Amino acid sequence: MVVLAVHGGAGGDGPWRGMTDADPLRLACMRKLLTELGTRLADGSLNALEAVTLAVEAMEDEPLFNAGRGSVLDAEGKVGMDASIMQGHDKAAGAVIGVSRSRHPIRIAHHLLTQGWPVMLAGEAADAYGDAQGVESVDPSWLKTDLRQAQWDKWRGQRLRPGATDEDDALLDHDGEQDGWGTVGAVALDRDGVLAAATSTGGMTGKPVGRVGDTPLIGAGTWADADVAVSCTGVGEAFIRTVAAHSLAVNHRSMPLEEAAQRVLDEVQPLGGRGGLIAVSRDGDVVLPFQTMLMYRGLYHEDGGVSVGIGPDMTA
Ligand code: ASP
Repeated sequence: MVVLAVHGGAGGDGPWRGMTDADPLRLACMRKLLTELGTRLADGSLNALEAVTLAVEAMEDEPLFNAGRGSVLDAEGKVGMDASIMQGHDKAAGAVIGVSRSRHPIRIAHHLLTQGWPVMLAGEAADAYGDAQGVESVDPSWLKTDLRQAQWDKWRGQRLRPGATDEDDALLDHDGEQDGWGTVGAVALDRDGVLAAATSTGGMTGKPVGRVGDTPLIGAGTWADADVAVSCTGVGEAFIRTVAAHSLAVNHRSMPLEEAAQRVLDEVQPLGGRGGLIAVSRDGDVVLPFQTMLMYRGLYHEDGGVSVGIGPDMTA
């Protein structure tokens, strides 16, 4: 049994209002990568670690998701990207914070994981490490899209006011408008029973410069062990304060995956942690729960089929 599941961020409040004009492109991106990478996982030519890395890279390249090119902009109008990756059987991990000129932050994290030490690098040191590993370097202006600039302009017009808290000021990517968080993540189970998880983000629109969310923090936004792999999305502060991804793994020692995941979302919610997650167990169980209006998500099935969804329903 192999599994590949992805998310492209959660967000919005209230009842599902249907797809926006940009949503078919997001769904097409997820469907394509799930079909290609799922097939390779199934025939054994791809392991879980490389599958989640390639899945996240594909979404980092899609400007409509909030990761890589198309990342949201911080309070100064700049891109600062976070990413992390973990492999289950040996708990190998890698993470980067505040990357600003690399096309694929998740690939830098992957190199750190493979190298084994250190686990985490921040800022220019992370970009420079990526250069040394052959990860493509890009002009920061290439990462910035018109859509994100427009979102930032709107944020600044509406939100920048004296006395506001940072959390009030920082918008999730799919907030405010229907297509507004777009953090991306992937979890996989390969033919050898190895699990892996990866998550990558530009953070939240208008985030304070230097703010670190849950995405690059092993145990908060990303976790994988021999039993389960997890990737989270949502207001990162609440996922950090509940060590959300690792909490799911602890819950799963004594309860089914679905319940273990729901308990995590129930715990983050009172702390302002609107969002969702994807998780796969070593038995091949998969859950993709969220408590926002939407979560972009998709799943490769062992029979070769792919399903994707945004609102409450998954479609084939
Ligand atoms: N968790 C991310 C962060 O707080 C945002 C997201 O998932 O959309 O940076």
